[in-house]
Amino acid sequence: MSNKTQEILGLYKSKVMPTYAPSVVIASGKGITVRDVDGRSYYDFTSGIGVHNVGHCHKKVVDAIRTQAATLTHASNLFANVPATLLADKLVEISGLGGKAFFCNSGAEANEAAIKLARKWGAANGGRYEIVTMRQGFHGRTLATLAATAQAWCQEGYDPLPVGFAYADFNDIESVKAAVGDKTVAVMLEAVQGEGGVLPATDEFMRGVRALCDEKNLLMICDEVQCGMGRTGSWFAWQGYEGVKPDLFTCAKAIADGIPMGALVSNAKLADVFTLSSHASTFGGNPVAAAAANAVISVIEDEGLLENAVKVGGLLREALQGFVDSYDKLLEVRGKGMLIGLVADCDVKPIIEALQSQGLLALSAGKNVVRFLPPLTLGEDDLEDAVDMISDALDEVFSD
Ligand SMILES: *Cc1c(COP(=O)(O)O)cnc(C)c1O
Repeated sequence: MSNKTQEILGLYKSKVMPTYAPSVVIASGKGITVRDVDGRSYYDFTSGIGVHNVGHCHKKVVDAIRTQAATLTHASNLFANVPATLLADKLVEISGLGGKAFFCNSGAEANEAAIKLARKWGAANGGRYEIVTMRQGFHGRTLATLAATAQAWCQEGYDPLPVGFAYADFNDIESVKAAVGDKTVAVMLEAVQGEGGVLPATDEFMRGVRALCDEKNLLMICDEVQCGMGRTGSWFAWQGYEGVKPDLFTCAKAIADGIPMGALVSNAKLADVFTLSSHASTFGGNPVAAAAANAVISVIEDEGLLENAVKVGGLLREALQGFVDSYDKLLEVRGKGMLIGLVADCDVKPIIEALQSQGLLALSAGKNVVRFLPPLTLGEDDLEDAVDMISDALDEVFSD
């Protein structure tokens, strides 16, 4: 570690609460590459945790942010603004849900909105409020979304959590059926669990949840915060499941390429459940964030990034499968598009550290999964370089 990195990390450790443990100080980013304060460059296969789907500082996004920042940065929700209104129209169009959008500032806040909307609808439809969520899922860190996140490691120490959640096993429809009771109003899940280990729902499970929701008059809520915005090769991961449409879905992370934004999108049935003053957020639909999001969507369309996520993501998974075949400690490659997990039967921390020293940033998903979330702009040439780095890192970790 050189001087600047050490200096900033020293100050960070003394003044920033220790909820994170960074070892690199990022100074700038361009495309798939980021640079640290000492000038070292890395391939960013974290995409800032699933945020930079169009790469860092894409010219069209930067131009949109610049122009909007010089025009209007905030007006409040007492007034409408153009970028957010156009974005709502676009989200409804690309999702095909036919409803309306509500804007906020993060994934947790979007999921809070989904939970509140489901409860408001349930109050008027049989006095129901309970939401069934999946074990190993992840929905955020506010108290309600933490209660929705059925994982002990992040709930510990925060009792009492809000009531009104029941847990079921992912990819096990019988377990979901068993968790549904008189007070159940909704089932909430990720089509591909991200934090929980990069686990895609099976076709059968997604269709089973939809059918169960239809049968019991429950809302199906998809949390697309990580798997949405093209990450898995369709705009939203649930669109990869034939015949499945949720009633509500949420997105955040990649929506505005790093400008904080979250959105809840509904079908037509739920479009007017939130009524005047029944929910709000000061910065929701911020014009700079919305201008960035509109630019992100047009870049994904113009550059064919959904197709690229499938194609180059497939090549990356193939290359990783080759490593699984040659190393006993590597068990499996999972995921869809460019949401990819490499499963090991050991702690993956040394692998992630070796990747970093080779110049490639990746992250974990739990203790045993290396998670790769490259920008959807990743090309085949850069993929080759990346695979060489992964190869060298694995050699280094498993040779001794
Ligand atoms: C990251 C994430 C969240 C939380 O989003 P924040 O913006 O950090 O609040 C919720 N759900 C999923 C699936 C996520 O990956």
